[in-house]
Amino acid sequence: MGNGLERGVVRMIELAIRDGLVVDGSGGAPRVADIGIERGRLVAVGDVGAAKLNLDAAGLVVAPGFVDAHTHDDMQLRRDPFNREKLLQGVTTVICGNCGFSAFPHRPGQTSPDLLSTDGPWDSFSSYARTLRAQGIGPNMATFVGHNTVSRHADPQVDRRPDRRRRTQIVDRVRRSVDEGALGVSTGLIYEPGRSSVVEDLVEIASAAAESGGLYCTHMRDEGAGLIDAIDEALTIARESGAGLQISHLKTVGRGNWGLVATALDRIDEAHQGGLDIGFDVYPYTAGSGPFEQYFDSDHVDVARLEFVQIVHCPDFPHFQGLRVPAIAEVEGCSAEDVTRRIISGPRATETVCVIFEIDENEMRTVLAHPRAMIGSDGIPQDGGVPHPRLVGAFPRVLGQYGRDEGLFDLSAAVKKMTSIPADRFGLAGRGRIQPGYWADITIFDHSTITDRATYQERNSPEGIRWVLVNGEVAVTPDGLGSALAGRVLTRAGDR
Ligand SMILES: [Zn+2]
Repeated sequence: MGNGLERGVVRMIELAIRDGLVVDGSGGAPRVADIGIERGRLVAVGDVGAAKLNLDAAGLVVAPGFVDAHTHDDMQLRRDPFNREKLLQGVTTVICGNCGFSAFPHRPGQTSPDLLSTDGPWDSFSSYARTLRAQGIGPNMATFVGHNTVSRHADPQVDRRPDRRRRTQIVDRVRRSVDEGALGVSTGLIYEPGRSSVVEDLVEIASAAAESGGLYCTHMRDEGAGLIDAIDEALTIARESGAGLQISHLKTVGRGNWGLVATALDRIDEAHQGGLDIGFDVYPYTAGSGPFEQYFDSDHVDVARLEFVQIVHCPDFPHFQGLRVPAIAEVEGCSAEDVTRRIISGPRATETVCVIFEIDENEMRTVLAHPRAMIGSDGIPQDGGVPHPRLVGAFPRVLGQYGRDEGLFDLSAAVKKMTSIPADRFGLAGRGRIQPGYWADITIFDHSTITDRATYQERNSPEGIRWVLVNGEVAVTPDGLGSALAGRVLTRAGDR
């Protein structure tokens, strides 16, 4: 076709989403508008013109795709490339590598003895990213490099401070990972080897990340009685290293400690006002979840805490799944301490995951309602048993229960917590807003019906998510999961 002919043809864009209530992620007022998409990007908002394909969104909300600020989906993207639990919630980007655990560095042929159970052909961030790109993934992903993973890679003995030579290896590996595109370094200071780490070493590690613009993201040393000291430790590390700070799943655990969250938020606000680059994420539930063996010690079993513990995944004793520990003890005719010791001494003890009901609803709401809070599900993917419902329902729950039903925040504020706030925080260029030029990660939902339906007893998919687009391709339709694996591995320096 010659240029003269082309000039006369009416240009049609690829896809228009018509008449939806656009909540653009900025926190601004919603407005009914059309949006136009071409080659994976938003090209128009408002006056869109003719399109080859039209999607009617009348009566529905059109929002940027949600960014799950805190996930453990690193290996789930291998087991289920669609990452269906996330796409079906409207999540279009998952942030991995949290709590000190990442899928790299890794030794091919070995399986990591941690909650990720990493197993694959890569050794570094670059080769892990290459593997995911070759295979295809449903949502976009970006990842931290985990301090626990790096440390164990350098020194298999986890209950000691590494020697100088190993500390240098750890710092070099963090620097290299961030240079290759990781978002920064994460720590999990309640887990080994993080638990044995000293502030001086963490400053050095965070500095290595900061040199390339990476963040310091932390599951803090104490979320109970020592919460405020733990926040002060994180602030010290951020200030001394120059790294931006992300506090993971902010909360107070343990009934005796409830009340500390207000002080924690004051500390965070003061630091923010003082110019520190600081953010935090939260999940909308009153139970935490993690590897059982990391919370309980067979020599000194915390019996009072066991009252609130439910086993959700247990390859060694599948019949324990879904039950609280005292109930298991009753069925087995033994004490709760005995149940604990049996689980911890099982051959696959590292894979046993529990849920602990120890967060105050009002404190959780206070964190959730904070204008700078972002949503991170912290879900731990598992094939069997019933996972903590946050894996399946966190985002619909914020929009439905806490936004629409309880009025904790308005719709625009709720969407902002799951779109522009995390996208800006993690430096995801061109994502988190509905704006011309941005990537077409879009979630379309019915605000009047959106509901999380997952409970601690049943893994139910949410209601009300209608369409999900990732990089302009349809990943979810009203009938369920589509066939697109349109996600990209995102790097700190931009898409590659
Ligand atoms: Zn954590």
